[in-house]
Amino acid sequence: MADDAGRRNNDANGAKSGHDNERETIIRSRLRDRSIKLYELEKELSPLDAIRVRREFIEEETGTKLENIGIFSIDIERVVRRNCENMIGTVQVPVGVAGPVLVNGGYAQGLHYLPLATTEGALIASVNRGCSAITEAGGAEVRILHDGMTRAPVFAADSVGHAAQVCDWVTVHRDELRVAAESTTSHGKLTDIVTFVAGTSVYVRLEFDTKDAMGMNMVTIASAKIADLIAQGTGVRLIALSGNMCADKKPAAINSIMGRGRSVVAGIAIPNELISSIFKTDAKTLAEVNYRKNLVGSARAGAMGFNAHAANVVAAMFIACGQDAAHAIDGSTCITTVDLTETGVYVAVTLPSLPVGTVGGGTGIDTQQECLKLLGVAGGGTPPGTNAKKLGEIIGVGVLAGELSLLGALAAQHLARAHQQLGRG
Ligand code: NAP
Repeated sequence: MADDAGRRNNDANGAKSGHDNERETIIRSRLRDRSIKLYELEKELSPLDAIRVRREFIEEETGTKLENIGIFSIDIERVVRRNCENMIGTVQVPVGVAGPVLVNGGYAQGLHYLPLATTEGALIASVNRGCSAITEAGGAEVRILHDGMTRAPVFAADSVGHAAQVCDWVTVHRDELRVAAESTTSHGKLTDIVTFVAGTSVYVRLEFDTKDAMGMNMVTIASAKIADLIAQGTGVRLIALSGNMCADKKPAAINSIMGRGRSVVAGIAIPNELISSIFKTDAKTLAEVNYRKNLVGSARAGAMGFNAHAANVVAAMFIACGQDAAHAIDGSTCITTVDLTETGVYVAVTLPSLPVGTVGGGTGIDTQQECLKLLGVAGGGTPPGTNAKKLGEIIGVGVLAGELSLLGALAAQHLARAHQQLGRG
C-alpha cells in the first residue's frame, strides 16, 4: 500500500533520488516521441508514479491543469490492475446519506443509512423524506424474487434445421455443459439454459447463481467454456460470446420478463395520516398520479420502465457502493404500483433486473467499500450470496423511498419548488 502522503496528493513528487528523477525525465521524453505508450507506464514506474507522470503528460498535451484529479486517498495498486487502465487520478462525486430506513427483508433487516453518490441537488433530500415515511409506517417489506446473471453467446447455424438441432443438443448435453462451466469458478453455479432462434442465428442464454459477485466476468469466463463445447458438438460457428440476448447494459424486455441479476420487489402500506402529514396530499391523488404518470404516461411513451425516477436511486447507490454504473440502465425498468386500500395506499416497486455484488468489480475500492461497510454488506456473505442479496434488498427499499417521495411531491404540486430551493446554485 502506498504511503499516506502519496495517497492524499498524487501531485507530490516525494523524496526521489537523482536517479529516479533522471529515469522519469527519460520516460517523459519517450512519451513525447511515442516510443513508449501511455498504457505502458506501469511497466516502468510504480503505479502512483505512473499515474502522476501520465497525468502530467496529459496536462502538457492539452494545456489543462488537473490538480484536483490528482488528489485521492484510495489505494490504487489493485485499481490499476483490475478497475481502470491509463489512470490519471480520480473524480470526486459527493456522497450523502438518506435514512435511516427500516427494512424488513428476506436478507436485510433493521435500520439502514443509504449512501448515495450524486450531483443532483434535492435527490437525497427527497429519498430521505421517503425513508422517513417508510420507517414511520413500520418498515418496507422486501424480497428477492429471482437471482441469476446471464450471458448469451450467438452461433451461426447452416440452416434453420441445423439451428433446431443445436437447441436439442444443448438440452441433451445440459449436465455436461454445467460441469464444464462450473470448472472455471469455485462460486458460480449454472442454473438455467434457454435457447432462442432467429433464422440461422442461435442464442444460448446461460444463467448463473453468482453468489456475492455481480458476476459478469465470472459468467463470461464460464460461458466461453460452454460455447466451445456447443461449437465442437454441433458444428455451429461461435459468432460472439455476447449475442445481446443476455442483455447487458441495454434496456431489454427479456430482462424485465425473465429477470437478470437480482430481481427485487419492495412494498409499504402508508396510512392516510402519514400521506397527509409527510406528503401533504391524499391517497386518491397519489394513486391517480401513479396511474396517469407512471403507468399510462410510460405506456404512451413506449417506455420500458413504469416508474418516476428509479434510476436516480439505483445510479447514486451503485456509484457509492462500487457497482458497475452502466447497470443503472437495468434499474430504469422498475415498475411502481400504488394500490388504494381501506387505510391509505400500498406502494410497491418491482425491479426485475438489479445486477449487484459485494465482491469483485469496484466493490474493493476503499471509498466504495466503506459505503458497503456502512450497509453491513462488504465482502462475501455467510453463506455466500447473502450479502449481495441483502444489498439488492436495501437498494430496492431506497428506490421505494425515492418513488414515494417524488410521487408525493408531484401529487402536492411541490416538485418545482423543491428543485428551486435545493437544486439551484
Ligand atoms: P470479478 O471481480 O471479476 O470476480 C469476482 C470473483 O470473486 C468471483 O469470480 C469469485 O471467484 C470470487 N469470489 C470470492 N468470494 C466470492 C463470493 N462470496 N461470491 C462470489 N464470488 C466470490 O467480478 P464479477 O462480479 O465476475 O464481474 C464484475 C466486473 O465485471 C465488474 O468490474 C464489471 O464492470 C465487469 N463487467 C464485465 C463484463 C464482461 O463481459 N466480462 C461485462 C460487464 C461488466 P471464483 O469464480 O473463482 O469462485
